[in-house]
Amino acid sequence: MPTGEAPVRIDVITIFPAMIEQFGGQSLIGKARERGLLDLRVHDLRSVTVDPHRSVDDTPFGGGAGMVLMPEPVFATVEAVDPPRPLLGLGPSGRPLDQAFARELSGLDGFTLVCGRYEGIDHRVRAHLLDGEVSIGDYVLAGGEVAAMVVLETVGRLVPGVMGNASSAEEESFSDGLLEYPHYTRPASFRGWDVPEVLRSGDHARIAAWRRAQALHRTVALRPDLIAARGGLTDADRRLMAEHPPVD
Ligand code: SAH
Repeated sequence: MPTGEAPVRIDVITIFPAMIEQFGGQSLIGKARERGLLDLRVHDLRSVTVDPHRSVDDTPFGGGAGMVLMPEPVFATVEAVDPPRPLLGLGPSGRPLDQAFARELSGLDGFTLVCGRYEGIDHRVRAHLLDGEVSIGDYVLAGGEVAAMVVLETVGRLVPGVMGNASSAEEESFSDGLLEYPHYTRPASFRGWDVPEVLRSGDHARIAAWRRAQALHRTVALRPDLIAARGGLTDADRRLMAEHPPVD
């Protein structure tokens, strides 16, 4: 528990600071900030501009559609703020965000996210300022802000102390290369659908075995690529699955 320790600092550089502030003021991230576990600082890229229009973008050299974020405001913001490194751009060509990457980021003292807009950022920012780039998937957003929120939430909930129950992060999807087992709550019988008997048995070893078997069944059915990445099913996996057939 980092209570008393320095909070994890995450800086976000954006032309839409209100989007990030609004998001970062509520729910999990908002509470983590209140409790001193996360130090989120949002920087408006326009605040370093000196021209009356506070412009941050210009037309692309070589022609073509759209506008490009100019290098000067990004360099000037970083030089003025000296935000925590690594300095990570958000963009489709970045390292794909997954749970392992999020876990790495959650173990750092801090890092900074730079949100692009328009057609993207002048390449010299990537080449001479950023330490790396993060992608949230193989699709194109209109800006990096939503991607920054995805990173903030995924990483933020892994920071020690942020989630009430530490073991919930250990047992959830992807933590062991598997999807999560199904959850149930009251009532035990809902419209004729009953919660599996084993979950009401109080037999913790049987419950653990059942949950693992269900995680395996779901992953085989829904994400066979994850099973392949673990090197296939072991004999023990197959035995467990045979012992506990999949739920509906
Ligand atoms: N022309 C660029 C896309 C620009 S989209 C290209 O073809 O690669 C505008 C901004 O949205 C980007 O600068 C980036 O910050 C953000 N963005 C778009 N897609 C993203 C993704 N998949 N992951 C993270 N950020 C993304």
